[in-house]
Amino acid sequence: MRVVFDIGHGSDTWPPSKGVWLPDGSGFAEHDFNSAVAIKARELAEKQGFEVLFTQQPYSPEVKLGPRCNWVNEEHKKKPILCLVSFHANASSNVKAAGWGVFHWHNSTKGKKLAELWAKYARNMLPIGVWGTGIWQCVPGTWSNFDIVRKPVMPCILIEHFFFTNFDELKKCNTPEMIDLFAQVTVKALCEYAGIEYKEEVKEEPKEEPKEDSKDLIEEYKRIIQERCRFSNPQGVWDVIEKHHPYAEALLMQWARSYNDSPR
Ligand SMILES: [Zn+2]
Repeated sequence: MRVVFDIGHGSDTWPPSKGVWLPDGSGFAEHDFNSAVAIKARELAEKQGFEVLFTQQPYSPEVKLGPRCNWVNEEHKKKPILCLVSFHANASSNVKAAGWGVFHWHNSTKGKKLAELWAKYARNMLPIGVWGTGIWQCVPGTWSNFDIVRKPVMPCILIEHFFFTNFDELKKCNTPEMIDLFAQVTVKALCEYAGIEYKEEVKEEPKEEPKEDSKDLIEEYKRIIQERCRFSNPQGVWDVIEKHHPYAEALLMQWARSYNDSPR
């Protein structure tokens, strides 16, 4: 299933706009955050079986919105695209403004559905507040008449993950852990929207170290074998067995016992 991820803005949009100067003199660029979330979300979405297209590359100069929207619609003609997700962080002159918000085109039923799913997972998973009602409509003739939600022909959502003009929220949200969580919210919403089950990442169990007793036993098997065989390079033999034999310990045991059981 094909989905489009749109990374908001570009590496050349800050400074002066789409970013903020922090009290310590460093700068925060919204595009860097948008890139980080989109990359993580792409990695997670691909693990769930989605094919992910980027409208523009992360950490790169901006491709103008018009060409981005046209490209998406051309791609959709070649092979249908399920939906589009645009990644952003919010700004306000009110430094207390805070929380996440998700936009959909006002009369798109499917866009609304996707926004509601995103909001559902955000409410359950994100340790930050909700901006207003959380779910916002893009309405023609108003400030929320966003090109990236209006122009593409497939259902679209635009996510404002948090307010970077609120320094407490910026500090809390611009971390690898939160970027990971934001990406999970998007991919869980996508999975439910697409009607597929979200597969949690399979963590590999750490291999158990052989217990001390068993280590001693193995050394004893090797001693017995070497006593009989007198290999010029015994360590090389053990290495080959332990590396390549699926039941190395059992093999060494049988081998050693075959000498013990037979008369010398
Ligand atoms: Zn933005």
